[in-house]
Amino acid sequence: MIIFLDGRWISREEATVSVFDHGLLYGDGVFEGIRAYDGVVFRLKEHIDRLYQSAKAILLDIPYTQEEMHDLVLELLRKNNFGSAYVRLVVTRGVGDLGLDPFKCPRASVIIIAQELALFPADLYEKGIQVVTVSTRRNRSDVLAPAIKSLNYLNNIMAKIEARRAGAQEALMLNTEGYVAEGTGENVFLVRERSLLTPPAYIGALKGITRQAVIELATSLGFKVQEQPFTLHDVYTADEMFFTGTAAEIVPVVMVDGRTIGDGIPGAVTRELIQAFHHMVRQDGSRIESSVKQVS
Ligand code: PMP
Repeated sequence: MIIFLDGRWISREEATVSVFDHGLLYGDGVFEGIRAYDGVVFRLKEHIDRLYQSAKAILLDIPYTQEEMHDLVLELLRKNNFGSAYVRLVVTRGVGDLGLDPFKCPRASVIIIAQELALFPADLYEKGIQVVTVSTRRNRSDVLAPAIKSLNYLNNIMAKIEARRAGAQEALMLNTEGYVAEGTGENVFLVRERSLLTPPAYIGALKGITRQAVIELATSLGFKVQEQPFTLHDVYTADEMFFTGTAAEIVPVVMVDGRTIGDGIPGAVTRELIQAFHHMVRQDGSRIESSVKQVS
């Protein structure tokens, strides 16, 4: 496995960071999870855009242009000979002293790792998952904006712990007002007849790239898509429900807090979207081998 670390292409064993890196000491940094399917990196440009927006929000200077970063991701996949893979792009504040002052960290560290994907078991997509609402509320946007994909994921990890301890595969997180926000690493959608409902990002959720793709797909398939706040009552009474994310893709949810969603099996709309999504991810992105950078 070849890893990119601060301008060097090195082995997994060589790829180590300093114990004085503020990414480690304070969770001070940003990241992206990206995925390649059969030689196409799905919406790479959108992921790079979001990375730079996250970095801007925390006043972190990334020492490469967006174009350079785009090419580095493709180069890493070529060097590893990967056509399909999960890519983790991390930018930390870099090495400083033990105080938290980020201005004492002269240069950000850039790490890119690609790994062949261990997919979720296929039966999970056929049967759907069980979810519980957790007491850990999603970070308030005026405290630490969930729109920033930062290295500080403790809010999500606390929620995941609650869900796993309750025997569920995933958590449903509410915002501090009680509106449904998202999963620990996924956005959420409900289906009612031929309408889709997803919380607006301002409710306290990451602006997911899979979420956006699903909104576009659903619209093109003739479904109505509404971005509006909703409550647990809407969840319990929905016809269908699913999560979206780069790692998770589209995962049907069939039970929430002991309530069966719809018929208790992945619904027809969810299945149609999963199929359309699998087609889309192989078309819409940056080709690994080609010099043509953006195809859509
Ligand atoms: N919400 C959170 C908190 C996440 O970490 C992720 C995964 N990046 C998502 C939603 C889904 O976003 P995307 O579709 O861009 O992977």
